[in-house]
Amino acid sequence: MEDRRKLYFFYDEKDETVFSKMQPIYTMLEEKGFTIMSQPNEANAIISVGEDGTFLQALRKTGFRNDCLYAGVSVTDETSFYCDFHIDHADKALAEITHTEIEVRKYPTIHVTIDDETSFYCLNEFSLRSSIIKTFAVDVFIDDLYFETFRGDGLVVSTPTGSTAYNKSLRGAVVDPMLPCYQVSELASLNNNSYRTLGSPFILSGNRTLTLRIAPGDSSYPVMGMDNEALSIQHVERVQIQLSDKPIKTVKLKNNSFWEKVQRTFL
Ligand code: NAP
Repeated sequence: MEDRRKLYFFYDEKDETVFSKMQPIYTMLEEKGFTIMSQPNEANAIISVGEDGTFLQALRKTGFRNDCLYAGVSVTDETSFYCDFHIDHADKALAEITHTEIEVRKYPTIHVTIDDETSFYCLNEFSLRSSIIKTFAVDVFIDDLYFETFRGDGLVVSTPTGSTAYNKSLRGAVVDPMLPCYQVSELASLNNNSYRTLGSPFILSGNRTLTLRIAPGDSSYPVMGMDNEALSIQHVERVQIQLSDKPIKTVKLKNNSFWEKVQRTFL
């Protein structure tokens, strides 16, 4: 019977230099009995070759599978949040990540539904931003509670691992990925006698649903982003966000915990 644990799919940005560096790794894996798949659907491990942006794309293009392992191979000297391996010494490590004794860590993702019609997952964040030089208004509901009306540039809803990305630039808190939750942060809210928002980022339990209702008749057509990709939908009335029941699985390595990465990157 075929060993189902040895099917690998590689996602990269089709860069010639990267390809030539990866070629010996593909050869080594094949010599060890691994199969390099041309499609991700059947793979047991999906390996992104590039930086965090490539890792986010690898997930999106392969459907945020939670029945396989994801791993990131960095190609630059910069540290990366989703890349646990470096291209110069990824060979042996990649051959080992599907061993049964390897420790797996799970990263929460959020599930976003637009007007009850379109839905998708995000690993970093969902963002909703004005597309014109005018503010737009959003009613914010937490479960059934009307919470506030936001007026400003937009809102960003981040996962724990996304808390070190866009959210951090908005002075949101850095959140431990072991906490099943998501965070809402504001982009330049108006706060005056007519409009009032909480004014600080807030963190919701994974059991809650966040609903954003864009004011009817508002013609500002906000831009929506799912991680590093813009949504092509222009007209939106209601966005629902929940913590998804599909965390993604990655490999847990020694000396590379989330907090070690935070320390290395920011301190
Ligand atoms: P990019 O604009 O080329 O790069 C954004 C930077 O964010 C890169 O340095 C990237 O790291 C880093 N990054 C991505 N995910 C991260 C994470 N979870 N923790 C810490 N840093 C992270 O776009 P990109 O590389 O495709 O990344 C997309 C992300 O950019 C979005 O999901 C959003 O979070 C972030 N973003 C931030 C701002 C802001 O801070 N003002 C505005 C828009 C978007 P690598 O160099 O390893 O790729």
